Amino acid sequence: MNQLFVIGDPIAHSKSPLLQNAMLQELGLAETWSYGARQVRGEEIATWLAQAKAGICRGFNATMPHKEHLARLVDQLSPGAAACRSVNTVCIREGRALGFSTDGPGFVQSLTDAQMDPQGGRVVLLGAGGAAKAVALQLAGLDVEEITVCNRNLERAQALCSHAPDKLKPASLNRRGLEEALARCSLLVNCTPLGMAGTGRQFEDLSFLQALPAQGAVCDLVYSPAETMLLARARAEGHRTLNGLGMLLYQGIFALEHFLDQKLDLAQMRRVAEAALAQSE
Ligand code: NAP
Repeated sequence: MNQLFVIGDPIAHSKSPLLQNAMLQELGLAETWSYGARQVRGEEIATWLAQAKAGICRGFNATMPHKEHLARLVDQLSPGAAACRSVNTVCIREGRALGFSTDGPGFVQSLTDAQMDPQGGRVVLLGAGGAAKAVALQLAGLDVEEITVCNRNLERAQALCSHAPDKLKPASLNRRGLEEALARCSLLVNCTPLGMAGTGRQFEDLSFLQALPAQGAVCDLVYSPAETMLLARARAEGHRTLNGLGMLLYQGIFALEHFLDQKLDLAQMRRVAEAALAQSE
């Protein structure tokens, strides 16, 4: 059996085994490939990687708190993973660990599906954590005019922006910073957990949306609930909106492409993964 895993801490909530096993089934590979979840604590990551390289699995996905640590531990980084110093997919090939990051490509593919082309426009990101970094650096590699990274902790936004200073501009996540950034924005992306089910935390005030031009689209990386208060308000004000489900699905599809070392039919895999999620709810 070719074994794959998702590792993290906590990990019990992960939908990755459900999605990946549904796709493996669709591809007729369920007899020879299997995908499970393993709790691996932060301090256990080096031991886990050694076990993986010794052959307990063909590869694994990683979530909190491992992505940045793995970027320093694997034997080789893909250009995308090297750019964002973050790894969410590790393939074991001939005893070597190859690290990839599929979060940024997953986000951009979800934009493509929704016909929200960021090229040539100005983007505003809310947040400067791991997800914001993946999204910012992926967009910085496209023909996007400017990306403003608005964060509560300005220093963290400045650190992120230093990776691509020509394209990325830091700003404070306060009313003035937001209104200035949004004035000529074509795409606003929430990369903070505000609005996510279970956190109990919301944007205190969504009136900053009034500064967004009418044709500006609004994305939320949060996918539970399917429509956050930010997206509901944006939709009510006439903006096109998109939640984080597509990013979740595509980061998994691209990870499976790396594990299998083959291109997959994206539309077919998205249908299968979405159906598996819907059945589980
Ligand atoms: P992270 O590394 O912990 O970063 C969180 C960011 O949110 C930081 O910039 C933080 O600001 C900001 N933030 C947190 N609480 C805040 C508050 N009360 N007010 C203002 N800003 C606040 O988290 P992450 O991994 O980037 O994930 C961020 C979100 O994206 C989560 O909801 C996650 O579920 C979602 N996500 C979705 C996908 C997907 O596939 N759809 C993939 C990855 C992540 P400070 O720096 O000031 O603390």
